[in-house]
Amino acid sequence: MSELTRKSLSEIRALLAEKAVSASEVTQACLARIEATEPRVQALLSVQAEAALKTTKALDAAGPDPAKPLWGVPLVIKDVLCTKDAPTTCGSKILEGFRPVYDATAVARLKSAGAVLLAKANMDEFAMGSTTENSAYFATRNPWDMERVPGGSSGGSGASVAACQCFGALGTDTGGSIRLPASFCGIVGLKPTYGRVSRFGMVAYGSSLDQIGPMTRTVEDAARVLAAIAGHDERDSTSVDRPVPDYLAAIADNKSLKGLTIGLPAEYWDRGLAPEVAEACGAAVKQAEALGAKTVRVNLRLSEYAIATYYIIATAEASSNLARFDGVRYGYRDKDAASLMDMYVKSRTKGFGAEVQRRIILGTYVLSSGYYDAYYRKAAQVRRLIRQDFEAALSQCDLLAGPVCPTTAFKVGEMTSDPLQMYLMDIFTISTNLAGLPGMSLPVGPGRESGMPVGLQLTGRAFDEALLLQAAHALEQNVSAAGTPAL
Ligand code: GLN
Repeated sequence: MSELTRKSLSEIRALLAEKAVSASEVTQACLARIEATEPRVQALLSVQAEAALKTTKALDAAGPDPAKPLWGVPLVIKDVLCTKDAPTTCGSKILEGFRPVYDATAVARLKSAGAVLLAKANMDEFAMGSTTENSAYFATRNPWDMERVPGGSSGGSGASVAACQCFGALGTDTGGSIRLPASFCGIVGLKPTYGRVSRFGMVAYGSSLDQIGPMTRTVEDAARVLAAIAGHDERDSTSVDRPVPDYLAAIADNKSLKGLTIGLPAEYWDRGLAPEVAEACGAAVKQAEALGAKTVRVNLRLSEYAIATYYIIATAEASSNLARFDGVRYGYRDKDAASLMDMYVKSRTKGFGAEVQRRIILGTYVLSSGYYDAYYRKAAQVRRLIRQDFEAALSQCDLLAGPVCPTTAFKVGEMTSDPLQMYLMDIFTISTNLAGLPGMSLPVGPGRESGMPVGLQLTGRAFDEALLLQAAHALEQNVSAAGTPAL
């Protein structure tokens, strides 16, 4: 592969700024890399080659702009984020051919920071899934082993970054969809605090859980992308009006973890972890101790209720959010329908895949009169208690550490026949969303048995992304993560 595409976002941005390479050269190198790897990896739903080269031509003509921190850097965007004049399918047939007339705020902010929109990434349909096998188009492969899944639902973003097709990507995380693929693909993934990044222009799945965040090859790269997209947006009433700290300064000269207390939730460490995951994550925690951190055991007693709670709240919100896809306003419309009702039913039946339909039915059920109190209201109450659990744990320490997932990436097809088994993969990630807290996956693998990447999950207090980045950065310099896959 071209040496250029292997560089980190921070390295390429420095080369671009000093004109050692042009923006067009960098984008061309990425396009060549996509051409070489995409037939095997299948990470992308559409590639904006022409538009990207047009953008870089204009950037090069104007010259590097120090006011634009991502000047000339090609990035990939999960296909759940609206991109002006570029396809946005959410991995669903129902949105085939849909081209939004505006950019999501996060995308607009990347563009105004000088980034180049390279491609839209594959995903589980409407972000529902943990493997990217639920895409209505094709399943993405894990660049470390093509027989294995990349994780999901932001698996296209994860695989693309790991395969060095781009220098970073945006993913979205409702219950783990940034952290899980980051962990399976051996990259860094950061789900910000709920409200830190505007959700305007993100097609909603579970509105009270969804967040957009960076997926990159290094912690510093994640800090740069987060810095560009974070901050209040008047078009999203849930985005919080609170100053954005200087994330780069936070990681700048930090090599030690002295003074930091890391909480190890017993429920995460003692629960049926694959030995190689326990080992790699355990070694990373030892390393943190060697760097000066103190560790304490903490409890998240309600962890065992997290999956049930999440799958009630997320499906309830999804059933309401997905009502807008009715064959009238967007995308697919069944042409043979005999009546208006028939058109709604046929368009939704043919347009949505099996998992999406399952969740709409489940969500409608838990919200229906007679069941609302038993399911939805109860779940909302348990959610509050889960949040309190985290607050109590985080009053004894500065951040929590544990595995992202009990296993490393599994084989394609291994879980598709058993949705419940698949839901269990989210056991360690979904509580973070229920509590609205920031969470991160840092590569600490490879696993001794499978040779596949392992991710350590760090969870922080609300709006304390700076501390997460700082700790992850210090650890990153000292753990033997896996690098990039040979392909
Ligand atoms: N796997 C979880 C689900 O299917 C999480 C998905 C996500 O974070 N978007 O709901």
